[in-house]
Amino acid sequence: MPRPIEALIHPSALKHNLRIIRRHTGDARLWAVVKADAYGHGIERVYAGLQGADGLALLDLEEAERVRALGWRGPVLLLEGCFEPRDLELCSRLNLWHAIHCEEQIDWLATHKTTLPHQVFLKMNSGMNRLGFSAPAFRTAWSRLNALAQVDDIGLMTHFSDADALRLGRDGIAHQLAVFAQTTADLPGHRSLANSAALLRHAHRPLETHPAAGSEPLSVAADWVRAGVALYGATPDYPDHSAAHWSLRPAMSLHSRLVATQQLQAGDTVGYGSLYTAPQAMRIGIVACGYADGYPRHAAVDNQHGTPILVDGVRTRLVGRVSMDMLAVDLEPIRAAGHNAEIGSPVTLWGQGPHQSHLPIDEVAHAAGTIGYELMCALSRRVPVRIDG
Ligand SMILES: *Cc1c(COP(=O)(O)O)cnc(C)c1O
Repeated sequence: MPRPIEALIHPSALKHNLRIIRRHTGDARLWAVVKADAYGHGIERVYAGLQGADGLALLDLEEAERVRALGWRGPVLLLEGCFEPRDLELCSRLNLWHAIHCEEQIDWLATHKTTLPHQVFLKMNSGMNRLGFSAPAFRTAWSRLNALAQVDDIGLMTHFSDADALRLGRDGIAHQLAVFAQTTADLPGHRSLANSAALLRHAHRPLETHPAAGSEPLSVAADWVRAGVALYGATPDYPDHSAAHWSLRPAMSLHSRLVATQQLQAGDTVGYGSLYTAPQAMRIGIVACGYADGYPRHAAVDNQHGTPILVDGVRTRLVGRVSMDMLAVDLEPIRAAGHNAEIGSPVTLWGQGPHQSHLPIDEVAHAAGTIGYELMCALSRRVPVRIDG
C-alpha cells in the first residue's frame, strides 16, 4: 500500500468561490491568478474550475505556455512582465498581456519586432515599493509606451501593501488609492487594482471614503480585479475574517491516516526536542505527514499551544514537533467524541474531512506563524494529488 497521504482538489469549490468573488466585482472583469502553479493546486487541475474567469494571471512564461496548451484562448497576463528582451517573442506568439514596471521593459519593447501589437498594463508603484513606476515617473512612462507602434492598448495597474489590514489606524489602501487616482485621473485605459483582500474588504465601501481625486470616483474593483487566494478558498485577512465569513470553500484538502498509536504515561514526552510532555496518561496517534510533505515544521506543538487537526472528523491538536515524515496528535478528544482512533483512521490536515467536518487552512497556518498562501504553495511533490469527483 502506498503511504496514505493524499491531497484532494475540489473543482466544485473553485467554481463556488469564483461565484462568491463575482458578487463583489460588480461589472469588473476577473483575472484568476494562477501563479505558483495555481497556488500549489496545479494549473491543469484547477483549469476546469476556473473556466468562468475572464483572464488568467501568472508570472512564468512556462505557465503561460501551459494554459495556452490547455486551450485557454482568453487573456493571459504576466503580472511581472518580461524578465529579458527575448521573452517578448513568446509574448507575441502566445498573445500575452504583460505588465510594464520599469524603463528597461519599455526599452525592450521599443526594439521588439512584432506584427501583433501588445496589450500591456503599466504598473504604478503607489506605495508598496516593490515593482512599478513612482507617481511622478508614471505619466512619462505612459507617454513613451503610447508612442510605440508595438503597443496597442495600455492598462493601468497598481498593487496594495495593506489591503488585508489597517495601517497606522487608518484604512490600509486609502493612501495608495489616492496616489493612483490622482496620477491617472485623465489617462485612458483599463484599471486593475484589487487583489482578494482589497476586493473582499473594500469593494463595497462607499466611494466617498476613498479620497479619489479624479473627476470620477474610483471603485477598488475598477475594470479588472486580480483574485488569487480567495479562489482557492483561503481568506486573505485571517484572523480578522475567516473563510466562512466570506463564504469561501477550500479548494484543497490534505488527508492522511494514523500509522501508529502510543499510550503515554504522565511525564512522557513526544518527538524530537521533547517539546510536549503528557500531563497525564493519554493516547496519541502518529500521522503519515511531515515537513517533507509541505506541512509546516513551525506548527505549534508544545503544552501551551497546539495546532488544530482532525482525526475521523473530530478536532484535536498536534503534540510534539513535526518531523520529516510524521507528526503526532492527541487522541483523547477522539475518544471523548465517541469515535475509534486506530491505525488507518482518517486524518485531515486541512480542508474537508469526513462526516461534514472541515478545518480551515488559515487556522493551521496561523498556528504555525504563517498564512494559508504559504501552506498551499508548499505542498510537496511527493504528495499524490487527486481531483475530487
Ligand atoms: C499574487 C498577486 C495577486 C493575487 O493576490 P491574492 O492576495 O492571492 O488575491 C494580485 N496581484 C498581484 C500583482 C499579485 O502578484
